[in-house]
Amino acid sequence: MAKEKEEKIEKADKNKEPKVQGSKSCDTNNSEVKPQSPEDTDVSVDDILSLPGVGSATADKLISAGYDTMMSIAVASPDEIMDATALGDSVARRIISAARNKLEMGFESGDILLEKRSRVMKIDIGCKALNELLGGGFESGAITECFGEFGSGKTQIAHLLCVRVQKQNPGCYAVYIDTENTFRPERIAQYAKGAGLDPTQVLQHIKVARAYNSDHQMLLAEKIEDLITKQKLDVKLVVVDSLTAHFRAEFVGRGTLADRQQKLNRHMHILLKLADTYNICVNVTNQVMARPDTFFGDPTAAIGGHIVAHASTFRMYLRKGKKNTRVAKLIDSPNLPEGEAGFVVETDKISDI
Ligand code: ATP
Ligand code: MG
Repeated sequence: MAKEKEEKIEKADKNKEPKVQGSKSCDTNNSEVKPQSPEDTDVSVDDILSLPGVGSATADKLISAGYDTMMSIAVASPDEIMDATALGDSVARRIISAARNKLEMGFESGDILLEKRSRVMKIDIGCKALNELLGGGFESGAITECFGEFGSGKTQIAHLLCVRVQKQNPGCYAVYIDTENTFRPERIAQYAKGAGLDPTQVLQHIKVARAYNSDHQMLLAEKIEDLITKQKLDVKLVVVDSLTAHFRAEFVGRGTLADRQQKLNRHMHILLKLADTYNICVNVTNQVMARPDTFFGDPTAAIGGHIVAHASTFRMYLRKGKKNTRVAKLIDSPNLPEGEAGFVVETDKISDI
């Protein structure tokens, strides 16, 4: 038993080793603000063992399920901890609440939140109208949903974001979950040239995974945290293109709607947690479905309904405009007025009309 514990402590120490080397190289934006990065919340096995109801076997299970930082435990839901450890509901709740206490989570005063907001990065997409619509660009720490009909520019924006995030944060990584097999490295290379970056280097800093079904898609989203905490990649952008296609195809018929929404809800929360915990910009795409019962306004609605709408911080509706133009409309934002912006998809950039 004692030996087992020793081994674990050794394991935890090893986990800590690359911390120094991996200290954020490109996170120089706000050096005077103390970052609440994942490194700050790294814990030793002893810390996890100090949580109430956690013995060495439970600590092992928590760590091997990826709950190896105080933050990851503090922001987990009891169900997640129960799934990972086979603990009962009340113990899971106690563990989470103890982790939250240790991190002194709870109410925060407004000035501290304002300071946190100052760490928000806005990815400049290179198109003035789109940037302005979004109050400066695509925000980190939030989910931005782009929804619209086929060919409206959702995938193009997602590709360009993978490039522009690297222009702004040299050396950082983008993660792309591709559900429709529409990721095109050639397009990335073209956009990279347009942004004055080396296409090969840009491509090397995009981790692409093809998701074959909704379960796989959810699993991939869960694995992103490993890229950050284990591989120490400085992930600044996560794209899910398309968020809803698999869910839509797999859950057909009215009887399956509740299941689909429940799974989508879990998926969105994983993404939201990533955005929030690691200050990542999450971009998801969503198609629209025909709404034949609407007589006024736009007879289309985003798939995923309220679940996706609620979890997304910003929602942008894209449609084709006159000639070769596209129009983006900001539908929902906590701090920006609704508005529209026109843009054009070109070979090497997205530009103003
Ligand atoms: P879907 O719902 O089918 O996934 P989408 O909204 O993702 O649609 P996009 O792939 O973003 O659609 O947009 C496709 C459009 O982008 C094309 O119709 C074309 O107008 C434009 N486009 C794609 N590649 C180029 C290119 N190399 N040069 C210029 N425009 C391009
Ligand atoms: Mg697409």
